[in-house]
Amino acid sequence: MSKENTSIHDFNLNLICEYYSNLERQGPGSPEITLKALSFIDNLSKESRIVDIGCGTGGQTMVLGQHTEGHITGIDLFPTFIELFNQNASQLNLQDRVKGIVGSMDDLHFKDEELDLIWSEGAIYNIGFERGLKEWRRFLKTGRFIAVSEASWFTEERPTEIEEFWKDAYPGIDTIPNKLAQMQKAGYVPLASFILPENCWTEHFYAPQVTAQETFLKRHAGNATAEGFIGNQRYEEQLYNKYKAYYGYVFYIGKKI
Ligand code: SAH
Repeated sequence: MSKENTSIHDFNLNLICEYYSNLERQGPGSPEITLKALSFIDNLSKESRIVDIGCGTGGQTMVLGQHTEGHITGIDLFPTFIELFNQNASQLNLQDRVKGIVGSMDDLHFKDEELDLIWSEGAIYNIGFERGLKEWRRFLKTGRFIAVSEASWFTEERPTEIEEFWKDAYPGIDTIPNKLAQMQKAGYVPLASFILPENCWTEHFYAPQVTAQETFLKRHAGNATAEGFIGNQRYEEQLYNKYKAYYGYVFYIGKKI
């Protein structure tokens, strides 16, 4: 990549980071759904070690923190998200048990068999579902849990427009039975899987973006990159409304064997 391209890339990332910093969530989900996924996990105690990978500003991590007793580490690539994460933890008085650190999901520094629960909502796609499940497995104690949400197809066949969109955005998207088989092959018993309801997209993800987009466009008036980014966000929302029968997010909960 040329120097010029690198700086454009960085600028894009800064913009994207700024945009998402103003939102409570950086992906589809809801507190209810975080708790539903958590309900499949047993034997957590004050001693439990939990990690939330690709935690963003910690919307779901704070819910976990309020409903578990153990220590939670949130990890995200973006320092701005981690700053907001730690502010959120302090505001909820969770700072002694819930801590955000900057790091990358492909370079984690935990000991083997150290963790009781690996959590990751709408983020494992950054490393790939299969790769993430395989690489993170060694950090978990045997018999302990992983819970991730991931874009998945609901049908065997899809209209070309949405197929092409996902082929470009995330070729790792697959059907639920295929994802479950990948989880099994990676060394986990699939304990549960369920589709995130539509309100995780509409009410909790897209609705808060309406105001965030207006503010963002005002702040970056005339900036073609910023306008292009918002155009893309709106296009993705339109695609969701048009094709939601064919894809969505699915929570997958597995137990290390
Ligand atoms: N879990 C949050 C955020 C999901 S968005 C939520 O559901 O709201 C995906 C997150 O993954 C972003 O916060 C992004 O910064 C983070 N991310 C992207 N690549 C990463 C990497 N290599 N390591 C750690 N985090 C990463």
